[in-house]
Amino acid sequence: MNKDIRVCIYSDYPSTSLDTDLVIENLKQYDFHIENRGNLLDFLSLTEQNLYKLSRSFSSIQIQDISIPLDSTNPPDSSEIEIEMNKLLGRESVIGKFYDGYWVQRILHNLLSEKVHNEMNSRYMHLIFTGRLFGSFEDRRYHARVVLMGSPALVSTSGLVEAPAKPKEYYYVKGRLIQSGMGTSELDNMYRGRFVEYDDPKISSILPSYALQAIFYELTANPFCDNPICCLSNSHWQEEVLKVQFEGVPCERCKGLLSKK
Ligand SMILES: [Zn+2]
Repeated sequence: MNKDIRVCIYSDYPSTSLDTDLVIENLKQYDFHIENRGNLLDFLSLTEQNLYKLSRSFSSIQIQDISIPLDSTNPPDSSEIEIEMNKLLGRESVIGKFYDGYWVQRILHNLLSEKVHNEMNSRYMHLIFTGRLFGSFEDRRYHARVVLMGSPALVSTSGLVEAPAKPKEYYYVKGRLIQSGMGTSELDNMYRGRFVEYDDPKISSILPSYALQAIFYELTANPFCDNPICCLSNSHWQEEVLKVQFEGVPCERCKGLLSKK
């Protein structure tokens, strides 16, 4: 295992509740070399033309129908390109669109390759905290994801809110309220504390677990741990995330694998 790997962390407008420095502090306990590269777009310092190209790319990889896999990019639409431009420049929230995660990864991989060509190898790992919601197509539909392993690895603060399921009763009560023609606005208040919210201060104490999952994968090629109390396990429920990933630690086996040089 190559523990001399340099982990470069970027941010693409993740939740404002995310304190990246805090996440990095937490990850340092595992003795990784970590470098905070700040805002991804500032780091890339794109020309106006390339910025337009990137806006165009992002506008063409949004998921319109979750039952149709995006095999090729959608034709760009000028108003969508402008919205994406505003998102990239931080003038508009990145929340509200759903992207194909592998396309996002491909686009960002190409941009990083142009910028830091000599760092696109196994000695470096690039990890981006983003507010964009992305998914992958499996079992005939797109599923939102918190983390997408690979180069660059992506960890989404919106995915943390949207991907793991809320308590079963939440959906039951929601269904009943809708059936009886009642509003569901009070529902989130009823279940508050049992799931992560967009501006949740807990996000900074949950994301180290997901960042560690991506780093662990890079180092060991093991995607997730089967031990349900390990922070490297794949939580499907919000309640599991709050129990296991919040202030999470790896199990003894994973800790052993991480400490090996
Ligand atoms: Zn484990």
